Amino acid sequence: MPPETIYEELGVPHVVNATGTKTRIGGSRIRPEAVDAMARASEAFVRLSDLQARASELIADVTGADAGYVASGAASALALGAAACIAGDDLGAMARLPDTEGVADEIVMARTHRTGYDHALRAAGATVVDVGTNDKHLGTGSRNVEPWEIEDAIGEDTAAVAYVEKSYTEPPLDVVCDIAHDNGVPVIVDAAAELPPTSNLSAFVDAGADLVAFSGGKAVRGPQTTGILAGREELVESVAAQHLDMHAAEQVWEPARELVDPEELGGVPRQGIGRPMKVGKEELVGLIRALELFVEEDHDALTEEWRERAERISADLDSVAGFDTSLTADDKTAVAPEVIVSVDPDVAGVSAADVVGGLRREEPRVFVGADALPAGEFTVNPMCLTDAEADYAVERIAAQVE
Ligand SMILES: *Cc1c(COP(=O)(O)O)cnc(C)c1O
Repeated sequence: MPPETIYEELGVPHVVNATGTKTRIGGSRIRPEAVDAMARASEAFVRLSDLQARASELIADVTGADAGYVASGAASALALGAAACIAGDDLGAMARLPDTEGVADEIVMARTHRTGYDHALRAAGATVVDVGTNDKHLGTGSRNVEPWEIEDAIGEDTAAVAYVEKSYTEPPLDVVCDIAHDNGVPVIVDAAAELPPTSNLSAFVDAGADLVAFSGGKAVRGPQTTGILAGREELVESVAAQHLDMHAAEQVWEPARELVDPEELGGVPRQGIGRPMKVGKEELVGLIRALELFVEEDHDALTEEWRERAERISADLDSVAGFDTSLTADDKTAVAPEVIVSVDPDVAGVSAADVVGGLRREEPRVFVGADALPAGEFTVNPMCLTDAEADYAVERIAAQVE
């Protein structure tokens, strides 16, 4: 039995996380150094625009972008990025968002890039314009979205093109960026879960993206409620103007110059669309520390550790009657290899859904991956498990069958 946690003290069962960095069970294990930094951040006050300017410097340094900003998650970074693309440096437009009367507010997306997270773009006032088809996915044809379809959809109401980065997303990002830029609109990239490899910090900026959103609470292992936005200076300035607290007396309003230039804006903005997504000094400091450590980390060694743990779990579960295990293929592995467990209900006496459901009702709860339940499979992700927890998870998984 794993030791009790603060959650048991509060009367809440904790979770043994065998499903990877999932927000609904708390994301990743924040780095202890980031927790220490957050505790120290709580001891004194700081002007948040100064701290955002410091974070901007670090984000620019590690991504190669002009500037950066810390949002309250990658989803919040997308909402703020959309707000920046729609309002630019127009104080009136900033004040009216999400009402977009009179300003270009369409965000063009390949239909195959639509996810539940694009609600963040709409939250800023954008109207998402879908292009292309789902033919390849459905097997009704060989093509999904053609570059010309994206170009065709861009018009005077277009504020941006949005792109969800995965190793398999099409058309290629650089092609989409060229089309968008030829038509005078920026590209916002959702790369929330695309770290590691560290090389991805700069890859999408290099491909031409104007704004790139990463989650700070996934493999970066910063605070759960952080996201990293990297991109063009004037867009980051618009983000800052719409996110920082603006309850300021005009005569003494003097935000960090590196982020916001009051003369350029021509006045003090109102509390903006980003204000409900605030980021505290503790989160900012925690993210800065976590990002510094993430770029120094030996990711090959980590991947090796995850692979070894996954192989051990796979071998242990393979001996359970009715279970057949394998590891995700290298080209399908996002961050860590996962153990895929295929359940034969006739032999095991239970279905994959029974196993997953039973595990979630235990105390502590055990969460395994449930995305492949319709195929009679569940998955075990080694990333957020200690070796002791992995042994415990294996024991409880096997116990669902007995
Ligand atoms: C996780 C994820 C998000 C949201 O990230 P948060 O940091 O939790 O806001 C957005 N888009 C994609 C593709 C993701 O995987």
